[in-house]
Amino acid sequence: MPAYWLNLCFKVKQVKKTGEVLVFAEQEDGEVHPVTYELLGKGSELAAKLGVELTSVFLGCGISEKAVELIQYGADKVYLYDSPSLETFDATRYTTNIVELVKETKPEIFLIGATRIGRSLAPRIAAALRTGLTADCVDLNLDKDGNLIQIRPAFSGNIMAQVKTKTRPQMATVRYKVMKANKKVPGRKGTVIKKKVKVVKDTGTKILGKIKSDEVNLAEAEVIVSGGRGLKKPEDFALLKELAAALGGVVGSSRPLVDAGWIGKEHQVGFSGHTVKPRVYIACGISGAPQHLFGMRDSDVIIAINKDPSAPIFNVADYAVIGDLYEILPLMVKQIQKIRSRRKTR
Ligand SMILES: Cc1cc2nc3c(=O)[nH]c(=O)nc-3n(C[C@H](O)[C@H](O)[C@H](O)COP(=O)(O)OP(=O)(O)OC[C@H]3O[C@@H](n4cnc5c(N)ncnc54)[C@H](O)[C@@H]3O)c2cc1C
Repeated sequence: MPAYWLNLCFKVKQVKKTGEVLVFAEQEDGEVHPVTYELLGKGSELAAKLGVELTSVFLGCGISEKAVELIQYGADKVYLYDSPSLETFDATRYTTNIVELVKETKPEIFLIGATRIGRSLAPRIAAALRTGLTADCVDLNLDKDGNLIQIRPAFSGNIMAQVKTKTRPQMATVRYKVMKANKKVPGRKGTVIKKKVKVVKDTGTKILGKIKSDEVNLAEAEVIVSGGRGLKKPEDFALLKELAAALGGVVGSSRPLVDAGWIGKEHQVGFSGHTVKPRVYIACGISGAPQHLFGMRDSDVIIAINKDPSAPIFNVADYAVIGDLYEILPLMVKQIQKIRSRRKTR
């Protein structure tokens, strides 16, 4: 293909914009939240299509080394706000500094993770900038004019709404574990711009201490054993716990059992619960309703145990075990323990 033709193709695909694509890099205690790398992954795709830079705003204390890592994951430029006043997350302090940056740099698009911190921060920033915000997006795209199409479930997850924002920047929070992160490229070049931090002294919030929660972290789990209405009583979650313990995993649940108060909401997988991507997902007595599949279908390996051979969960399962979970689970635990003890004696 002649060079001019390639050039023409490229021009057709690229919609030249002047702003940038900005990603909020979230950290706590110096640990970057992995949703940041996923946002940089999607952000670099959008920035390339728009022909603009991918930038990132990073706030905290003693985090300059981590800023370089953001460049290795795709940022062209990192706006670094490094100050003791930003050591722990404070919505007012973060908002004040980020709003000023956005007014100065005028990004076209601004992406934030739909995390605990992101969900607290994004509406405050959007309100201060008087711009729109689409929460909990599961995909992002561009229309032919380069406007951001923000895709999120609506009407109980029955449709995927495509939202466009007239105001700028176009702001969206994006669910964790739905976008693909860029691979880290050591030595990738970019710029870290140290910004002057506006110190807000009294914000009305003071952190007195941190208590470590013993809540299950489904999003990070490598193995999840989930139970559904196939369970007969709350105590039967013990069967699932036993298998999860044998595999070094955690217990998940479908929504009805959470609604019935059999298990905490933090265990719920699905549309109105957590989106998970473990290496192994074992669904026990779960039919496979679309709202449940929404949260687990991207798991690496799905094993479904169900006594109904026509259960929709089998459409997404890699391994289908047709039978009674009360017979199968104890057998699985026994077999795993046998393999473990054999390995130990070797
Ligand atoms: C707005 C909205 C949001 C929702 N969000 C979520 C969500 O986040 N997560 C979620 O899970 N659901 C969600 N739901 C509910 C969802 O639609 C389904 O109702 C739910 O997922 C069904 O749960 P289940 O598979 O446990 O139960 P069921 O659909 O009743 O399935 C039970 C299964 O167990 C099997 N079974 C029974 N006994 C045994 C046995 N002894 N051994 C093996 N198999 C057995 C049966 O064959 C059956 O397939 C939502 C619904 C709405 C409207």
